[in-house]
Order: sequence, then C-alpha cells, then structure tokens
Amino acid sequence: MSLGRLTQLLALILLPPPVAAAASLDGASLIVLGIAQDGGAPQAGRFGDARWDDAAKARHVACLGLFEPRSGRRWMIDATPDFRRQLLDLRRASGGADRPALDGVFLTHAHIGHYTGLMFLGHESMGAKAVPVWAMPKMTEFLHRNGPWDQLVRYGNIELRPLAADVAVELTEGLSVTPISVPHRQEYSEVVGFRIQGRGRAALFIPDIDSWEQLDAQGVRIEDLIASVNLAYIDGTFFANGEIPGRDMTGFPHPFIRHSLLRFASLPAAERAKIRFIHLNHTNPALDPTSAASREIVAAGMKVAREGEIEPLDAGSPRTPGARPKG
Ligand SMILES: [Zn+2]
Ligand SMILES: [Zn+2]
Repeated sequence: MSLGRLTQLLALILLPPPVAAAASLDGASLIVLGIAQDGGAPQAGRFGDARWDDAAKARHVACLGLFEPRSGRRWMIDATPDFRRQLLDLRRASGGADRPALDGVFLTHAHIGHYTGLMFLGHESMGAKAVPVWAMPKMTEFLHRNGPWDQLVRYGNIELRPLAADVAVELTEGLSVTPISVPHRQEYSEVVGFRIQGRGRAALFIPDIDSWEQLDAQGVRIEDLIASVNLAYIDGTFFANGEIPGRDMTGFPHPFIRHSLLRFASLPAAERAKIRFIHLNHTNPALDPTSAASREIVAAGMKVAREGEIEPLDAGSPRTPGARPKG
C-alpha cells in the first residue's frame, strides 16, 4: 500500500464524525438540557456544597431536547424535576411558535429524575393540552394508576402513546426515536434507553444502566450500539469507587466511568470520540471540567456531555443560502 493511501485510510479511521458546520442548520438537532443524576447537582440536603452560590457550576438533571426549526417542533427525552428551565432552553434553541410549548415527551423509566417533570404540564401549572407522552407498557400503567399522574391523563394534559422495545416512533420525515431495553433497577417500570435517528446522523441516550456486562448478557454489546450512531450519551453516574466518603461503592448499580474508560480503551479513537458521559451524580469529580477526573476522561479520548451543546441530526441537506426557518 502506498504511503498516500495509508494516510487516507488513517484519516478515515481517526477523523471524528461530521461536525455541526457540515450539517444542515434548519434540520433536526438535539440539545443537551441537563447532565446531572436524578438528584441534581448540588443535591438536596448538601448544605455545604459551594455550587448553591455558584449558578455557573450547578447542573440540571439529565435530559435531551430534540427540535426541528423547519417545522418549529420540539420534544424532550425524559421530563425531569428541572423541566421548567429545560423547556425554556429548548424553546430558545428551537425557535418556532410559543404554542404548543412541547410536541411530546419520551420517558426512559419511573425514577424521579426521569418523569416527575410531567407535573408541570398539569392543571396547577401549564394546563397543557394533549401533549403526547411515549412510554413503555408498565410505565404507561404506572401513570394511569397513580396520582397525581392519572389526573394529567383524565384532564387531557397528556396523551399516553405506547412504546415497544426496538420499534421506532417517527416524529417527522427522517426523525425517529427507538427505545432499547436496558438492565437497570425496574422498580415501577421497564427501563429503556433511546436511539435517535435523524437524516444521516444518530445518537444514543442511555442515562441509567446497571452495568455494560449485564447488557452483554442480554446479547447486546454497548460497543455495537456505539458503532451504530455518531454520538453516545451514556451513564457516567459515578467516576470511581471512593467518591462517596466512607462507603464501599463496589455493588453500586452503575458502571463507574473509570471502568468504562478501561472497557472502551481498545476501541478506535473515532469510536471513543463519540462517547459523552451524562447523568453524573453530585459527588462525581468529572462535573468540574478542570478536575483530574475530567482530564483522565479527555486523555482517554472521551468527553463529559455539556449543558447547552447542540448536535445536528441531519447531515445531508445543507441549508439553502438565505433560507429562513418557518414559524
Ligand atoms: Zn437516573
Ligand atoms: Zn434510574
């Protein structure tokens, strides 16, 4: 093989996936609306946390927004306790009309950081009309049978729509969301992650999982899921054993980031570059971009998701010069 060909091949392997500049500006995109674990950062009761008085360092609960400026439509993946601010951030990123405020919500599971934001759609707050909420069967049953969620259904604030594992829901032409079953404490509901497919680019969102090895046991390798997308927002709840003083965290049901760094170390650089840890516990040192933990993640070729980062999901239809988004 010639040196030129070898350089070309190396460039193909090492180059990151297409970046924002190469993609459509009015096509579908995703925005990271929060990166913290269910309890937020800082967490309730942690009165000594310096982040209470430093808003720039506080983080919202893990959540992705999807939007399509062309049609002015917007959706959320999970409805968190930080829903109020996240809805505003999504509106500002997406443009479009103020109403409807939201075109739908996809729920991963029934732990507090992932669905309780639905309450703001109800009578006491927005009094929203028929916002579609896509949920798995047990999650749907949970919302139907328990207050205050059943009231959202009875008053018509939300409309429950069924999800089935591995079955895509098409939101607009070329934008779809597909649930993927993941092993995680199934206390009130199933637990899913999502694959979000745009025209030409795709993203994975798995904020909560017990371990990559239990996913292996289900016959699905996380490496294969990562290979099938351009971006992978995955469970980075804890950085390493020892980060909660005085507790042995060996049995904690999350893959430590340090374990993930090791597991993914043998992947090609372009694969590692897709990985963005999300759902960080308030104790996770990687919440601070200047920490040794953050430097370790970057040195391993991976990243922590950033609040406000926007990633295009359309790659193939560059915006016509002078074209303006509708709505
Ligand atoms: Zn969670
Ligand atoms: Zn959970």
